[in-house]
Amino acid sequence: MTAGKNDKQVSHQFVLNDSLHQLFDSVDAISVQGYDEQRKVIYWNKGSERLYGYSQEEAMGEKLEALIIPDEFCESVINAHRAWIDSGFEIPASELTLRHKAGHDVFVFSSHVMFVNQYGTRQMYCIDIDLKDLRHAQAQVSFKEHMLESVFDAIPDLFFLVKSNGTVIDYYSSQEGHLSSKSSDLIGKNITTLYTKAEAKDFQHQMVGALSQKSHSRFEYEYHLSGGSKFFEARVRYIEKYDQVMVIMRDISEQHQSAELIRHQAYYDSLTSLPNRFLALDRLSQSLVESERNKEKTAVLFLDLDDFKKINDSLGHEVGDKLLIQSANRLNQAVRIGDTVGRLGGDEFIVLIKGINGQQVVLKTIESLLQAFRSPFNLDGRELILTASIGVAVYPEDGKTASDLLRNADTAMYRAKDRGRNTHSFFTKEMNVIMQRRLELEAQMHGALERQEFEVYYQPQIEVKSGSVIGAEALLRWHNETLGSINPDEFIPVAEQTGMIVPIGEFVIDQALRFLNKWQKKQKQKYNIAVNLSPRQFRDEGLFSFIRDKLVAMEVMPCQLELEITEGILLGGQGYIQKALNKIKQIGIRLAMDDFGTGYSSLGYLRQFDFDVLKIDRSFIQGITTNQADYDLVKATIAMSRSLDLSVVAEGVETLAQLQMLDELGCDVAQGFYFGKPISGKDLMDFGVKDFFLQSHRSFQKDE
Ligand code: C2E
Ligand code: MG
Ligand code: MG
Repeated sequence: MTAGKNDKQVSHQFVLNDSLHQLFDSVDAISVQGYDEQRKVIYWNKGSERLYGYSQEEAMGEKLEALIIPDEFCESVINAHRAWIDSGFEIPASELTLRHKAGHDVFVFSSHVMFVNQYGTRQMYCIDIDLKDLRHAQAQVSFKEHMLESVFDAIPDLFFLVKSNGTVIDYYSSQEGHLSSKSSDLIGKNITTLYTKAEAKDFQHQMVGALSQKSHSRFEYEYHLSGGSKFFEARVRYIEKYDQVMVIMRDISEQHQSAELIRHQAYYDSLTSLPNRFLALDRLSQSLVESERNKEKTAVLFLDLDDFKKINDSLGHEVGDKLLIQSANRLNQAVRIGDTVGRLGGDEFIVLIKGINGQQVVLKTIESLLQAFRSPFNLDGRELILTASIGVAVYPEDGKTASDLLRNADTAMYRAKDRGRNTHSFFTKEMNVIMQRRLELEAQMHGALERQEFEVYYQPQIEVKSGSVIGAEALLRWHNETLGSINPDEFIPVAEQTGMIVPIGEFVIDQALRFLNKWQKKQKQKYNIAVNLSPRQFRDEGLFSFIRDKLVAMEVMPCQLELEITEGILLGGQGYIQKALNKIKQIGIRLAMDDFGTGYSSLGYLRQFDFDVLKIDRSFIQGITTNQADYDLVKATIAMSRSLDLSVVAEGVETLAQLQMLDELGCDVAQGFYFGKPISGKDLMDFGVKDFFLQSHRSFQKDE
């Protein structure tokens, strides 16, 4: 304490020796106060100024209770001080909450000593250590503890603090389910006691792996409980400083389940539960790798249900679905364990036979697959017979990759269908040539309309009795720069399969009606025009309005347009075809059945669909003069058409003798090379078919 100038300071000069004061004066981190018997301040160091806010000047001479004692403790402080002076009861050192000049609390650890000075008076010295930082730190710690507790409570995870050898130091779990009965007292035990021997080994192995990374890592493991397995994720964090490990375990059974579900949906067909296309092809790729390594073969069977579409359309999708499920089950039972049956989509299945050395196993499997379909299916009390066609491609000879093998098996399957269904066919290189050609056609057909590669030709139709041209059939021609001229018998099926027949078909209708308009104007005469329609075109909703609008635009009466369809269209019995045909008939367009005699030749269809024209296929006309059966059929057909009030057209008339015979049998119209091959519209307009025909007819009459 430095020498002061006022009285208060003077009095303190008497109380304690200066060297001690010098010591207190020099430490401002500790507050030292001195009080006389009346508790008036006789000493107040810098530390006190800092801690309590009163300057030395302000404090000197003031009473203890007036400065730093909160009101509520004043009395007890006065009493305690008095008791010490009077009876020698020391005031013990303790933590106290005192008061700052500004009114706020001051936390201190306060120690007290009582001196008797040279004058025999007592002086109490208080040494106060500021506890503010300590209190603050304590509050922080307790807050953190609370927070941690609430976090532990809120999170369903299990927390373990273990030594690096696995001994549990501490653990926390808000839900005890996972720990089961073993959880009662884990501290001091090894964490692996939670698990069965095998699980423990696995867990330990994972832990060691995780710890070797020395930071954090995670792993998943399965935990077996009486009610079934649970899945856990363990996150491990190595705390190097203490050589301890924090293990946090989370029950991820639910995520596991939904991940499993998603995985299942991604790899399995939802209807039949068979591996889907993706998984089946993945397995195929894997087995190709194995086959390569083991110098073995793998067979890919492409299986398609025969006429499934028909069943689906006529009996409904529900029945169709049931049939697919039952088929899948039968297929699964027909193959060896380890072979894969997958669903590619629709009614197409794939069977993989791996690890084979010859055809024997393949043939046996095919037989049992086809056998699986021999007994009828029972669907809601209804018995149904269903067959399948199978195409086979074998690795490595028929393809090296999964997609090549699948494509080739598919090609072979089409061959099996061609061979009458309910059978199998092995892929051959020749099929590949056909397939290659098909793919080329498909590629070239793209943009062929835009490149104006299509042209409509016309073949005249002649009324047999009068010998006059009454119309023509529109026949499409395709000339492609790369492929040359392609036959419609070849490109029409491709156009149908790709759906390109829809725009191409519209092109034919447009061209044919446009031509008819010009032709009629030039010849000043009415003609009919026949246009072929493919089944696929009926699926196009816009077909009817397209035709109707074109008729109006080209000023053609509906009855002058004849639409030729084959029986195949009607086989499926699809509702949309019936609807489209009804609309077509309603506005007066004529309907012709093409290629009669080649298909089912069902009279039922003739009546059901209200045909106007029946075209006898040229294969019968060709034999009419040489083959009794053909003659009989043509004769019967013409007679029947009469009774049904149908007009009969003979296709493919090539000779005079054929024409003669058709005339005798009462055939109405003839068409064929004898009168003229299909020619361009321009040629037909200039060609003067009528003259050409009359000439021939004249000579025909002369011959008689
Ligand atoms: P189709 O409708 O039965 O047409 C008759 C086919 O017989 C035509 O073949 C025609 O050239 C041929 N032909 C006509 N007279 C004779 C003959 O005296 N002898 C012989 N040997 N053949 C004769 P083309 O033009 O090759 O057409 C084949 C098939 O392609 C057509 O058979 C038809 O089904 C289809 N087609 C042609 N154009 C179209 C079209 O625009 N749309 C659709 N959907 N199909 C078409
Ligand atoms: Mg035709
Ligand atoms: Mg025909």
